[in-house]
Amino acid sequence: MARPANPTQAPAPAGLTTADPRSLPGSVLDGLGAHVCLLDARGVILVVNRAWQEFAVANGAPPGTRHEGTNYLSVCEAGDAAGCGVGEQPSFASGLRDVLAGRADAFEFEYPCHSAAEQRWFLARVARVRDSDPPLVVVAHDDISALKRTQLTLARREAVLADLAASIPGALFRLVVGADGAFGYRYLSPGAAALFGLDAAALAADARCIDEQVLPEDRAERARSLRAAAAAGIRWESEHRIRLADGAVRWVQAQALPRPDGAGGTLFTGLFSDVTDRRRAEEGLRISEETYRTLFQTIPLGVVYHDPSGRITSANPAAQRILGLSLDQMQGRSSVDSRWRAIREDGADFPGDQHPAAQAIRTRQPVRDVVMGVSVPERGYVWIMVNAVPILKAGELVEVYASFEDITQRVLLSQELRQQATTDFLTGLVNRRYFMERLEAEFSRVRRHGRHQSCLLALDLDHFKRVNDTHGHAAGDQVLRHVADLMRQSVRRPDVLSRSGGEEFLLLLPDTGREAAVSLAERIRRRIAASPTMADGLPIAVTISIGVSALNPADTTPDAVLARADAALYEAKRSGRDTVRVAG
Ligand code: GH3
Ligand code: MG
Ligand code: MG
Repeated sequence: MARPANPTQAPAPAGLTTADPRSLPGSVLDGLGAHVCLLDARGVILVVNRAWQEFAVANGAPPGTRHEGTNYLSVCEAGDAAGCGVGEQPSFASGLRDVLAGRADAFEFEYPCHSAAEQRWFLARVARVRDSDPPLVVVAHDDISALKRTQLTLARREAVLADLAASIPGALFRLVVGADGAFGYRYLSPGAAALFGLDAAALAADARCIDEQVLPEDRAERARSLRAAAAAGIRWESEHRIRLADGAVRWVQAQALPRPDGAGGTLFTGLFSDVTDRRRAEEGLRISEETYRTLFQTIPLGVVYHDPSGRITSANPAAQRILGLSLDQMQGRSSVDSRWRAIREDGADFPGDQHPAAQAIRTRQPVRDVVMGVSVPERGYVWIMVNAVPILKAGELVEVYASFEDITQRVLLSQELRQQATTDFLTGLVNRRYFMERLEAEFSRVRRHGRHQSCLLALDLDHFKRVNDTHGHAAGDQVLRHVADLMRQSVRRPDVLSRSGGEEFLLLLPDTGREAAVSLAERIRRRIAASPTMADGLPIAVTISIGVSALNPADTTPDAVLARADAALYEAKRSGRDTVRVAG
């Protein structure tokens, strides 16, 4: 490498002002670590020190090369022309010329001088020796590679930090809280401009403008938490809202670790980040949870949650009220628990494993509008309409909730209406319309299964007109009720006893053969004859005539059996009444 010029220590060493430099003891210059040479006014080298010589040898000059007498200015100008060494900076030769010519006293500049083995930098200092005449110029080259390397390393680190700071979402900050509690920013990364919606220049001018954006209602708490963290020497965490210039509100989270700042204060280093989305989601969740809780607590609908095994985990107040059980009593119970008593609308048992919640667990499908009567202490059967919905997460059953409405009033009313529609008001027996429905059903059954034997009795009080005429209509009614009771007491549960009109009755005897039917008819006849009605303390005796006929699968309509029974009844009347006749 054409490295002509070589180092020297800067200004003139003391004692060089007037003396002939060539007479200087070598040790003065040789003791210097810098590469030094002295030039005359033309730029010719008068003397070089040992460091200069050694450097030249290290860079390829033959040992013993004499530098004295070489025109250093020419060498530098040649270097300029060749574009290498010091000459790479054209100002060096011209700077040197200026100093040689007395136009300038000194100059210095840095230049790289890399060897194959290492990267090197030098600082060249050129100065006119004060008061020298003829002028002397000292040229010194200092090896500043170590300093340069440190600077480069630092610059690289700074670039990495700047990159990091710029790529972190949010803003890195350093903040000092003084012993008096006052605080101020020491550093804010470029992300602060975007986070706070501020101009980078405004931020650089005064970082406190970010504090002014904090909503007034959050400001005191933010400052308090910061000072408290500083006082306790603990991590500072705060979430607060800021208002941007456009009016938008944003949630900012601050997280920072403390360190004593050496002046009695605390230096926090941390990160501001935008947590608006999370806060909004949390807020949405909180509101929906509150809404749900209010609903759960206040709706008149019973709501009961079951775990996947069917056990009750929670029940709202309405469920507790409707079922007459406390939450404690319900928790842990499943629908198959033997303490439940439930029935269907037709009065049949409602097995626990058929409960909508149990079905929803089994099928993982919702079950809708199931009516059931649940026995509740001191209230009898409470009627509820139940919906059960399974909750699945990722295909797994998590829980089942059953909601139900108390429909007891509705069910009782409809039962009442049905009762009224099918019952004879005076005797409480079923009316003719209902009887005919049952007869139709029984007739179909007999026709389907020819083996079944069923019979029909037609019953009519004898000379009842006379009862009315003799004792009055009210007493007649009493007799009708009394006779109805006597007959009711004589029949079995599946039998259908009806007042079909006036003082006439029909009795359907399913699964009963003709003989049994006749003997029952006889029992009824005798019982009525032997049990007068007591009205106003007086006994009113009546008798009854009965016609018996069997349901016949060969009949085309149930009217046929009615007609035969009526014919048999007519026969009984004709035979003198108080008797039983069987259709042929
Ligand atoms: P028979 O032996 O031929 O059946 O004579 P009967 O008098 O019973 O027959 P009839 O059909 O002529 O009379 C029936 C009477 O039953 C007529 C009516 O006054 C009476 N009756 C019908 N419905 C009622 C009722 O609801 N209350 C009362 N007290 N009497 C009734
Ligand atoms: Mg009659
Ligand atoms: Mg009669």
